Amino acid sequence: MLDKLEEIKKSALISLASVQNEADLEAWRVKHLGRNSPLMQIFSGLSALSLQERPAVGHKANLVKVNLEGVLKEKREAIKVAVLAHSLEEEQLDVTLPGRGIRVGRLHPSTQQLRRVIDIFAEMGFQVYTSREVETDEENFQALNFPPHHPAREMQDTLYIDAGDRGENPLLLRTHTSPGQIHSMREASSKNPENPPPIRIVLPGMCFRSEQITARSEVQFNQVEGLAVGENITFADLKGTLSDFVRRMFGQNVRTRFRASYFPFTEPSAEMDAECFVCGGTGCQVCKQSGWLEILGCGMVHPVVLENGGYDPRRYTGYAFGMGPERQLMLRYKIDDIRYFWGNDVRFLEQF
Ligand SMILES: [Zn+2]
Repeated sequence: MLDKLEEIKKSALISLASVQNEADLEAWRVKHLGRNSPLMQIFSGLSALSLQERPAVGHKANLVKVNLEGVLKEKREAIKVAVLAHSLEEEQLDVTLPGRGIRVGRLHPSTQQLRRVIDIFAEMGFQVYTSREVETDEENFQALNFPPHHPAREMQDTLYIDAGDRGENPLLLRTHTSPGQIHSMREASSKNPENPPPIRIVLPGMCFRSEQITARSEVQFNQVEGLAVGENITFADLKGTLSDFVRRMFGQNVRTRFRASYFPFTEPSAEMDAECFVCGGTGCQVCKQSGWLEILGCGMVHPVVLENGGYDPRRYTGYAFGMGPERQLMLRYKIDDIRYFWGNDVRFLEQF
């Protein structure tokens, strides 16, 4: 019986030498130390042995058990260390690899174009004046010579704000940046009603109209408006300033032309065209073969508007103009759908 125990020990140690991983080690444990292992069979058979034999066999069996449990523990540790060493070697970290770049954002194309426009007018001495996007009917329309029910309101489908019954002066989202003209004139004239100071400003910002959204119209868009008010300002100043703007924006040799137009808040009013910068005036798809591109609307400030701003129209004159940066970008980059601007598609935005 003692020899048999020696045999059990020897064969267990031999087979342990070939164990290389956790799973095999567990199988080894079941086979050699498990309930049905030969060693455990000997323990359970002790009672059948004679009284002389029993102590020696029991003692020896215990020694073998402790011995095997000891080597099992050692082997388990050894495997753990080996696995760790292996994974360290396999998954070596290359600290010299460059890190992942941070994606740097950029300004929206409309903002970029707004800033180009503002930069040019800033060089000419214009200041930036920003005003609110929620307006009263009075400031968005009436003070700008659009009386209630005036047919010119048809051109600007309006988004109204539900603010209770305000009669003929409801709240609305501004349909153009022109109410800024009224704000700036009233602000300046209220400080010195007898002698209001001259004004030279650009008014950038978002405007809103209740439009059907199509490739050509959106419910929101940017405008840059300009206003110059003072003594002895004439249509020649308007033409000179805007022609200079177009040359700085689109090229020194670009020709311009003015066509008579109509806006309620200017008189006379004009549309300004620039020679097509895509074809140079010979005619192409962008300019619809005309050789000209419509760039902005403008005119001399209407006497009623000056009056509403606190400027005496017998003494002061002024000019105003307005343009759309998105429209300029569409012309310049042949963008055929205005919905790209507010569609939040990075594939479009990251091209600018
Ligand atoms: Zn053209």
